[in-house]
Amino acid sequence: MRAARARATMPWMRLESVAIAPVPPTRLAEALTAEQGERFAEVVDRGRRELADRVIWNVNSTARGGGVAEMLRSLLAYARGAGLDARWVVMRGDRDFFAVTKRVHNMLHGEPGDGHGLTAADGEAYLATARANADELAPLIRPGDFVLLHDPQTAGLIEPLRAAGAHVVWRCHVGTDAAGPLARAAWDFLLPHVREADAVVFSRHAFVWDGLDHERVAIVPPSIDPFSPKNQDLEPAVATAILQRAGIAAGPVSTAAPAFTRLDGTPGRVDRRAELVASDRLPANAPALLQVSRWDRLKDPLGLLDAFRCEIAPRSPAHLVLAGPSPGAVADDPEGLETLHEVTRAAAGYPRGIRARLHLCTLPMDDVEENAAIVNALQRRAQVVIQKSLAEGFGLTVAEAMWKARPVVASAVGGIREQIVEGETGLLVAPTDHAALADAAVGLLEDPVRAAAIGERGRESVRAIFLGARHLGQYLDLFERLLGRRSVAELAPLPPPRALAS
Ligand code: UDP
Repeated sequence: MRAARARATMPWMRLESVAIAPVPPTRLAEALTAEQGERFAEVVDRGRRELADRVIWNVNSTARGGGVAEMLRSLLAYARGAGLDARWVVMRGDRDFFAVTKRVHNMLHGEPGDGHGLTAADGEAYLATARANADELAPLIRPGDFVLLHDPQTAGLIEPLRAAGAHVVWRCHVGTDAAGPLARAAWDFLLPHVREADAVVFSRHAFVWDGLDHERVAIVPPSIDPFSPKNQDLEPAVATAILQRAGIAAGPVSTAAPAFTRLDGTPGRVDRRAELVASDRLPANAPALLQVSRWDRLKDPLGLLDAFRCEIAPRSPAHLVLAGPSPGAVADDPEGLETLHEVTRAAAGYPRGIRARLHLCTLPMDDVEENAAIVNALQRRAQVVIQKSLAEGFGLTVAEAMWKARPVVASAVGGIREQIVEGETGLLVAPTDHAALADAAVGLLEDPVRAAAIGERGRESVRAIFLGARHLGQYLDLFERLLGRRSVAELAPLPPPRALAS
């Protein structure tokens, strides 16, 4: 009944299947220590044996933009390369559905979002969309398959896909350190669905909800792929060529080609241009601070602009690059365009001298790997990478910058506090303390030796904990535990970041 209603309002509904070319997992070993590599090879061999003949379905709500899509693209490529039948399906929803799920997302972070709260009618609309998606997916699933559902949009699929005979794991990528009434209201909204899952995965212990059976809760932090177009090594001349071709950087034309290697190993080239929103191109030798993120208020772009204008620009010659996806490209984020307009309006009111040092970029999203190569080049070009989030489950952009040995200044919120050891692998500042942010960023610009040391230690801490090999290994371990009906609460523990940093 409800499914029929949802389909009537979404006549276009057809699940999108994202094609992923396999990549041999041995490739990942190149970025690991010998010991990590051996452990990874064992886990993959065992996984291949234990999970043979089962499909591992992944479901989320967007194929591009944001951290979850980023991770799925890489992890599934390695899983497929290992001989596992891992697939990715993108669920559908209409504007109302994504308005509700964006609110839930914000509330899980402890923020009100659009402030409408969650009503019984929202619950019904949510369920109707979930059921319509499950109706399309369930016939494809065989009993014994695994389904890994990502984030609030997908929780309504848990029960119907379990009924189809799958082992269903729901993963929540977001959370807050101290759950208040907003976060709890979001839990209450999702809990009737989430309680049905065979296992629930969080990125950190601090994000685990009350009311869940702890034997079914696993902690699996996110990861990055060192060989993806986002993170692969780029010669400085190539990074310059990419930024020039994208229209972001000025200066003498680089003789290198704006080239990168695609996930499937084929050559790629940056051809599309970014849009500089009422901004000049970044001059060749200007010291650059960078924040890359979706246009989302929780990334606090307005706060960062204000910190730049009032605290950083008067004290240093630094430029600020604020980059994000071309608006409208991220299907499940209805607030993106609005946030970008707010940023543009704020910047338009700034004095000319400051305006000239501010570069607002929207990056082309037609080809996600081309987009990733531009982000890669930007992160390598920056002297300091900033992540001024007000809330953050886990900052992929933080890990990406650390892997490139860039010194990072980030807000001490959420998962970022476990990614960075303050003063050793990066600098942490209170999320609304603009003076502290300026001290940290300007201090790094003025002390390149310290900045380089912090960057190098950051890279090693990512190698030890936050690469895809660890992530994939934990998932395989989790699935094997579900098959053996064992508790998933005790996946192999991670090394503590502090021990690594010293
Ligand atoms: N990102 C991107 N292109 C953009 C903006 C962001 O590829 O124009 C990527 C960014 O590099 C990172 C991800 O989107 O890999 C964002 O993940 P993060 O955990 O930082 O934040 P989320 O968007 O998941 O809240």
